[in-house]
Amino acid sequence: MAHTAELIAVGTELLLGNIANTNAQSLSQSLSALGIDVHWHTVVGDNPQRLQEALDIARRRADILITTGGLGPTYDDLTKETVAEKFGLPMEMHQESLEEICSYFQQLGRPMTDNNKKQAMMPKGAIVFHNDNGTAPGLAVEKDGKTAIIMPGPPNEMRVMFRNYVKPYLRKLSGKTIRSHTIHLIGIGESNVEDMLRDMMTSHQNPTIAPYAKTGEVRLRVTASADS
Ligand code: ATP
Repeated sequence: MAHTAELIAVGTELLLGNIANTNAQSLSQSLSALGIDVHWHTVVGDNPQRLQEALDIARRRADILITTGGLGPTYDDLTKETVAEKFGLPMEMHQESLEEICSYFQQLGRPMTDNNKKQAMMPKGAIVFHNDNGTAPGLAVEKDGKTAIIMPGPPNEMRVMFRNYVKPYLRKLSGKTIRSHTIHLIGIGESNVEDMLRDMMTSHQNPTIAPYAKTGEVRLRVTASADS
């Protein structure tokens, strides 16, 4: 079954323009390589009501919701709790994560404050993804045909978590293998290419063919999916 995803970046810094949403860019690239269509990118501040609204909308139009950010230990980090509420799941302590967070602080020789324990609280039944580069674990919850995947905001934490744990999880979910090949065309404009290939572009489902105009060239991306 083909899956559609919506990426929800959580963070007021993004809305203020203090940082660019590079998580959306790198996740979109990785998801398209997995054959998961990303139809929407959403950015929302650290505000529980607006995050709830964003989750409601995303659940109506996508079957995989992927959030980044808002997993820290402080009171305004609310992504996990808000998603759990939307999915109707109570929060509970995940003992293994708690032990890992404690030993992380021990290794650093820094005291662990009580609010760090919040990072080990998980929605009931969640699949927990280890954070190899930080303290906040990620997680996935599934309910009523919808999946929410929650990852930390810092790109170095998010990318490693995606590669090591989320990607294998999504592979199992989609059950498909995707291959893409890019054909580079020089000396012809995008409109001419489309004119010559329009029938193929509009009628072919597998592989699909999509044109992209770049400086000095036109690229055609040919993408096929199969069970193996
Ligand atoms: P932490 O556990 O460090 O508190 P977090 O999951 O709560 O992380 P945020 O506090 O939302 O994440 O963001 C931490 C930092 O990660 C931001 O200051 C920013 O540098 C980076 N970051 C967050 N979201 C994004 C994004 N969408 N794209 C790029 N960088 C991001």
